[in-house]
Amino acid sequence: MRPPSKTAVAALLALGAGIVAAARPAEQLPAPQLVRRARYLMGTMFEISAWGRDREATLRAVNRAFAVIREADEMLSSYRPESALNRLNAAAANEAVPTPPTLFEALEASLKYSRLSGGAFDVTVAPLIDVWRRAAETDRLPSEMALGRARALVGADKIKLGPRNQVRRAASGVKIDFGAIGKGWALDRAAEALRKHGVSDALINAGESTLYALGDDGERRGWLTGVRNPRGGGPAGVEFRLRDAAVSTSASYERFFEIQGRRYSHIIDPRSGLPVEAVLSVTVTAPTATEADALSTAVYVLGPDAGAKLLDRLGRRGWIVDGDGSDSHSASKLR
Ligand code: AMP
Ligand code: MG
Repeated sequence: MRPPSKTAVAALLALGAGIVAAARPAEQLPAPQLVRRARYLMGTMFEISAWGRDREATLRAVNRAFAVIREADEMLSSYRPESALNRLNAAAANEAVPTPPTLFEALEASLKYSRLSGGAFDVTVAPLIDVWRRAAETDRLPSEMALGRARALVGADKIKLGPRNQVRRAASGVKIDFGAIGKGWALDRAAEALRKHGVSDALINAGESTLYALGDDGERRGWLTGVRNPRGGGPAGVEFRLRDAAVSTSASYERFFEIQGRRYSHIIDPRSGLPVEAVLSVTVTAPTATEADALSTAVYVLGPDAGAKLLDRLGRRGWIVDGDGSDSHSASKLR
């Protein structure tokens, strides 16, 4: 999803894989082995740690999962000129564009989280991001006019999903970008591929910002994961175990726009058109990586109060750290 320069926010640590090679009771079957592989995909480092008794079969499953992530990127990337997404973004206003199922389903999921978050999460936010990126390039705050023009192109109602996976955009300037959900989406597809190829215990990590834990670690206890303290120093953060669940962090301390010496978040409130100010980081756990990824961004935009309410309403857990560094939705809720 992102330019292949810098990995995403390094907020999560995948602690599980390195420390779980403990002894198992003697069995007739060959002992399970851990296979670990990493690939640079979607502008970030994906890492898979998978347990299996047949090392070759596990490796094949892991390679299949990487292939699935690559396929998702080929559909959903805004950095590949030939991607299905860029073809859709280049179509004329109101043209019914047939899309591959992956793109259509990722859009359906995105519109669902737009609805659930009252528009805080919005895959059509790209025109506003472009305005802020240009502002950073020219080192001048955007004009009201530029912001107004971009805002008129943003909103879930600017995309219409039709029969046979057809998608229409309401105006030629409407632009879809999966930067806030694509990695989660790809992780879920990778987990499906691992399951289908016989792997039931694996940890899949996308750039250390979103992670899916399939089954257990080597000791049947869920995978040990953790979140660093976004304030640096002090306590290390929180550790918790995940089983068939995901965790995602949205934060702005490594990715931001700098304009006239001030840093602005790369996460934009689609309702105001402005970068979000009040939040340092948000971590959310959820049954799917798609949901964890979408919700961490949504809650970041909503801020501590409305964000915590959304998590409570959905029965999800999270850790919201305010701009001033105080905890809002407490870390203990993640354990
Ligand atoms: P994440 O790190 O998952 O929170 O995603 C952040 C990225 O999503 C940004 O770099 C933008 O490309 C995009 N983005 C920014 N604001 C929003 C928003 N309100 N809704 C959806 N995507 C956004
Ligand atoms: Mg996200």
